[in-house]
Amino acid sequence: MTIGIVAATASGRTAAAALAAAWPDEVRLFTDVKAADGLREAWRTCDAIVGFLAVGATVRVLAPLLDGKAADPAVVCVDEGRRFAVAVLGGHRGANDLAHRLAGVLGCTPVVTTASDQADVAPLDSYGADLGFTVHDPGALARVGAAVLSGEPVLLEGADDWPLPALPPNVRARFGGDEPSAAILVTDAADIPRAGRSGDPLVYRPPSLVVGVGSARGVGAEEVGELVDRALASAGLSPASVRCVATVDLKADEEGILEAARRRGWPVVTYPADVLADVRVPNPSPVVAAEVGTPSVAEAAALHAARSSGRGAELVAEKTKSTCATAAVARLRPRGRLGIVGLGPGARDLLTPRAAETLRRSSVVVGLDQYVDQVRDLLRPGTRVIASGLGQEEERARTAVREAAAGRAVALVGSGDAGVYAMAAPALEMLAAEGAAHAVDVDGVPGITAAAAASALLGAPLGHDHAYVSLSDLHTPWEVIERRVRAAAEGDFTVCFYNPRSRTRDWQLPKALDILAEHRPPDTPVGIVRNASRPDESVTLTTLAEADPAQVDMYTVVLVGSSRSRTMAGRFVTPRGYRWA
Ligand code: SAH
Repeated sequence: MTIGIVAATASGRTAAAALAAAWPDEVRLFTDVKAADGLREAWRTCDAIVGFLAVGATVRVLAPLLDGKAADPAVVCVDEGRRFAVAVLGGHRGANDLAHRLAGVLGCTPVVTTASDQADVAPLDSYGADLGFTVHDPGALARVGAAVLSGEPVLLEGADDWPLPALPPNVRARFGGDEPSAAILVTDAADIPRAGRSGDPLVYRPPSLVVGVGSARGVGAEEVGELVDRALASAGLSPASVRCVATVDLKADEEGILEAARRRGWPVVTYPADVLADVRVPNPSPVVAAEVGTPSVAEAAALHAARSSGRGAELVAEKTKSTCATAAVARLRPRGRLGIVGLGPGARDLLTPRAAETLRRSSVVVGLDQYVDQVRDLLRPGTRVIASGLGQEEERARTAVREAAAGRAVALVGSGDAGVYAMAAPALEMLAAEGAAHAVDVDGVPGITAAAAASALLGAPLGHDHAYVSLSDLHTPWEVIERRVRAAAEGDFTVCFYNPRSRTRDWQLPKALDILAEHRPPDTPVGIVRNASRPDESVTLTTLAEADPAQVDMYTVVLVGSSRSRTMAGRFVTPRGYRWA
């Protein structure tokens, strides 16, 4: 993205320089010309504009240039005092996001006035955009968007299969009795049903179709194009849902195929003949097999491409022929999404923006009840929450995997980092056990683990090599745990104990500390951090000789230094041996 920065005052130029330093690859400065000229020039040449100008002045200059929501650059105005970044134009085309990014760099408050952001509803103009959905009817967008926001009953059809974000509860697949007042349709069908009283539906085109093409050498682009159009039309399919053209490697330089695809804006993918030969098709040909090395090109390539980018595929238009070309169409079933999301140690500002975005991108959130409660306010209205209690890890993993394998966008949440003594491993084991790996895209979102949160509070205990050990013998026999504690003691690692002690599990921590004490001095620093970053956070810095296991519970991590760890400047430090000049 190119961001044009327009500034006319000294303070504006200072801020512009800060942005140029923060986003060197994106920023172009328009700070040496009159503001109005800079604005006009940026409008012509950039995807987005940040003006250190009054909203009114900006609007006066840009008003005659306005063309339409889909084409105009995004515009954000920042006031002289750098207090507010106001998204003025193109909210959903980047201005809202840009206002938030500006807030991050300049410390101002983003001001966003688009209705859907306020109501926290997934914006319809970018609905499914990251999956490749397209939508072309500004009138329907506005009308249906208004119906969604005002809570009127809106019918939703064809969205089930796609991993889409949640829409609010008034948008549903079925209504008994009353006719809905608007309709949203996700479809690759060419013909759109007129929706009676609810008006024409808002139609999204999902990228669900792959066109397979074969040809003789030297085929013309016109011929290929007409054949493909005919294949789609006779099956009642919309060209707007074609995600790519597929063929055999041998045709990677077949200009007629490439040109026909280029004219329609479709990418071309090719596969080796022996790969296509393994695809079962309804209309194999021995002649083609002898010539190309696979009994099918069009049908096999369409099916293979659709299968490799989805969780399954079917042929929706069998092979048709022209003089020199063949075409067939396959439809894919899209893969679901499984976000495995770490929520951080507790404080909201230690939950990453990516974690928040993944939650808002999901229609199903699965997790331990206390963690789900922690983020309920971040979820889009209409998000299905499946919360369960402690000890139901297997059930949670299975639920998350099955929901994702059914094509939904799922977030499986855990505290800290979801990969550290948490749900990531069981979820992936379950994905394998259910044979669902091909049906799901996994999206791991890292979180700040308890050790990192505690370490920052204590000083720098993890400044040199360290080991994490969980003292929970629920899933690991104590002999194994003890062996690892001994190894960490002998290896002189700083050790961070997770699950150090519970009401019924009280002798393991003293035992572990005894083992470490055999290998390091009594004044070795020990940090005990309870509820890091939560309201009742407590931090104790003590020594191996003085540490009191009784103050430790299951909301605590315990860090024990290596033989090199020291208390310095009142903090727990494990030096790495830097030499100061
Ligand atoms: N996935 C989590 C760990 C889950 S195991 C993470 O990455 O942090 C649960 C253990 O983590 C607790 O028994 C405790 O030892 C530790 N823990 C989790 N959150 C904590 C916090 N905010 N403060 C201190 N310890 C915490």
